[in-house]
Amino acid sequence: MTDIAIVGAGPAGLAAALRLHQKGFRPRIYETVSELRPLGVGIDVKVYGTKEFEELGLLEEFRAISVDAQESVFYNKYGQEIYAELCGTHMGYLHEQRFVHRGVLQMLMYRTVLERLGQDSVVLGARTLGYHQDGDKVTLDIEHVDGSTEQIVADVVIAADGIKSVVRRQMHPESADPVYSGITMWRGTTLMEPFATGGTILHIGAPQISSMIVYPIADDWQGSGKTLVNWVVEATRDESVEDWNQLGSIEEILPYYDQTQIPILDVQQMLRDAGEVYLFPLIRHDPLDTWVDGRVVLIGDAAHAMYPRGGNGACQSIVDGATLADKLATIEDPHEALKAFEAQRLAMVNGIVLSHRGEGYEVIRRMVEERTNGEPFADIEDVLPLAEADEIFSKYHALVGQPRPGHEAGDATGFRTKYAQTAH
Ligand SMILES: Cc1cc2nc3c(=O)[nH]c(=O)nc-3n(C[C@H](O)[C@H](O)[C@H](O)COP(=O)(O)OP(=O)(O)OC[C@H]3O[C@@H](n4cnc5c(N)ncnc54)[C@H](O)[C@@H]3O)c2cc1C
Repeated sequence: MTDIAIVGAGPAGLAAALRLHQKGFRPRIYETVSELRPLGVGIDVKVYGTKEFEELGLLEEFRAISVDAQESVFYNKYGQEIYAELCGTHMGYLHEQRFVHRGVLQMLMYRTVLERLGQDSVVLGARTLGYHQDGDKVTLDIEHVDGSTEQIVADVVIAADGIKSVVRRQMHPESADPVYSGITMWRGTTLMEPFATGGTILHIGAPQISSMIVYPIADDWQGSGKTLVNWVVEATRDESVEDWNQLGSIEEILPYYDQTQIPILDVQQMLRDAGEVYLFPLIRHDPLDTWVDGRVVLIGDAAHAMYPRGGNGACQSIVDGATLADKLATIEDPHEALKAFEAQRLAMVNGIVLSHRGEGYEVIRRMVEERTNGEPFADIEDVLPLAEADEIFSKYHALVGQPRPGHEAGDATGFRTKYAQTAH
């Protein structure tokens, strides 16, 4: 049996462990923090991500901690509706799209790994410093939280150590220094009454000035009877530290939305009522030309860090585990198995990394801002016809691996919601 060590107990490392266990392996995870806590805010889990949870036998548990995504609505900076589409099964996909708290999801996966693989399958407080290879073995240099060091020898090492991966830095020293894009995200949550369908995601503003995404991530949050709503605002800022736990202030972002009037949500009030606000600079990591060095492989953000827009970073990281486990189970030579994993995934995921650097389907909000010279519009059909927006969305969904049902038949699948207003 191939002896497998995984670096990092984020969603990628945990999903890989669960998938490998399904194939009969018994990997062990080495995680730097000494206690896993439910950190982060929201993740938008796409239909192919929900399929992963079904295949992991976790669909009901995942449903219990997440919210069914029903519709996705786009607005200009004045709050005028530009476009809407249905989500998940409401759109005709076989699986649901769901919104979830990143940390709560990670804790569900962590508990499941301990239950299925054993309490000793995750070693906490164990920081990987680097690796070296000798013949058929890989040695990981580990530093424990008490300062002691240890060398772990394995047949295969899976590096799932996130955006600041030390394994990627060793494998690709030439691309070790990421570049700040000039854009920062303010990420927060507000405990409030549900809005619209209770499963509506809003995309607001002109991306060239500031952009806001809002969606609910938990109903009856911690027994409060209220909904936990996740929001993310992007704007330019002089910033460069890539740290998921940096705190920010809403005073910096409120002015971008003082003209925004959306019939279904008071966005200013939502921002003012927020709990802690985290800053996260968008860092440009160049796509890598290989994720494999001998018997060491990068997965998740370590392999394909992308701007955290649209949930694909987390979902693609979870898919990595399934493909990798499949290759390790069916191809005898571990290096060949890792290369086969890379051959199946690298080009497609790098395509998503690059697409997220642009705006993906969010480009429709930029187009409207440009076509209206930043002014309110009278009729959106004169500015961005439904058919033109539909084409953009269909191409994007196909790119990320979930082609839109019905579009092959030429159907117009976007719509205007009942709250749509055309003039202010
Ligand atoms: C604290 C935190 C909060 C986040 N919040 C959000 C969010 O709100 N929304 C969102 O979309 N994405 C968020 N993310 C990122 C999101 O989890 C990832 O984009 C995606 O899920 C891919 O996961 P990953 O497992 O590859 O990376 P990560 O989730 O970053 O997990 C990497 C894991 O590796 C561990 N690790 C790092 N270095 C070492 C080392 N040298 N040795 C051992 N272990 C190591 C880390 O502690 C972490 O547990 C967050 C990540 C973190 C770490």
